[in-house]
Amino acid sequence: MNKEFKANVSPCTVTEEELLLINKLTVKELKAEEVFTFKVILCDNEVDRDCERFDIAALEKLAELFVGVTGIFDHNPCGGNQTARIFDTECETSKDKVTSCGDSYVCVKAKAYMPITGKNADLIAEIEAGIKKEVSVSCAVSSFTCSVCGGDMRHGSCGHIRGEVYGNRKCHCILSDVTDAYEWSFVAIPAQINAGVTKGFEKEYESTDNLIKTVRDGRCVKFTSEQAKELCSYITRLEKEAEDGRLFRKSLTDDTVRYALLAVPELDADTIRNLCYSAETAELINIKNAFRSKASEFIPLTPQLKAKKEKTQTDNNEFKF
Ligand SMILES: [Zn+2]
Repeated sequence: MNKEFKANVSPCTVTEEELLLINKLTVKELKAEEVFTFKVILCDNEVDRDCERFDIAALEKLAELFVGVTGIFDHNPCGGNQTARIFDTECETSKDKVTSCGDSYVCVKAKAYMPITGKNADLIAEIEAGIKKEVSVSCAVSSFTCSVCGGDMRHGSCGHIRGEVYGNRKCHCILSDVTDAYEWSFVAIPAQINAGVTKGFEKEYESTDNLIKTVRDGRCVKFTSEQAKELCSYITRLEKEAEDGRLFRKSLTDDTVRYALLAVPELDADTIRNLCYSAETAELINIKNAFRSKASEFIPLTPQLKAKKEKTQTDNNEFKF
């Protein structure tokens, strides 16, 4: 999974101790004047725009795993070789900042270095100017817990929906049990918050099927009013079809019970109703036809039914039951 985070990247001067940490990761020993170092916040425990947050243990694990991990700078298409490496991390708890959940704000602070070369000069100048960047971290987590009920949210099994309000609490997913940290990168911040999300929505979820799949996957989506209308009319259509289906099954069950009691008087209505209840609709049609055939052997049914009986005989429906 990828997580985006807005952060200030700030240059810092390298200390002797830090140089030792850096040189643990390098092939060739670097001197203080050969490296450029900067600080960056990788992630925190605030609920993000996907309605997800890391728990404290996850942040501590990420801090541990991100040491030595290389970062990429994707704002520059020619910047394939522009990489920085994290040499030190720490989980920092804020004394006066509180998250939207009311917890103390905790973030993973990282220190990264890159060799000072001609190739890196532009990037170093940008970082020195205090540019704000979006940091994207890529990691694997194995636990997805619902903030409302504590259930497993992976397959939407608890039924709560991220971003929906239950009582006075907004549901979100708590990410924990971090198993891997793959990479981190800088991406340009979209001009508006969520602008990228809306754009992605139009492209990715243009069909109702895709939209439903996304919701089923438990991902957070943002609708345009047109799309919301489309989804509502789709639900209304489904509700109407479901009601038709219920009426059809009720009438089918009533007929089956009637024919079954005529065909086999030893049976009782409740037993047949229970049998009908657990049968699929296609099976129920076969059962009804079989009882109707049998019943017509004892009692003359209406001419219309007789005509239909002939048809069912050609279908061999009696034998299906
Ligand atoms: Zn839940």
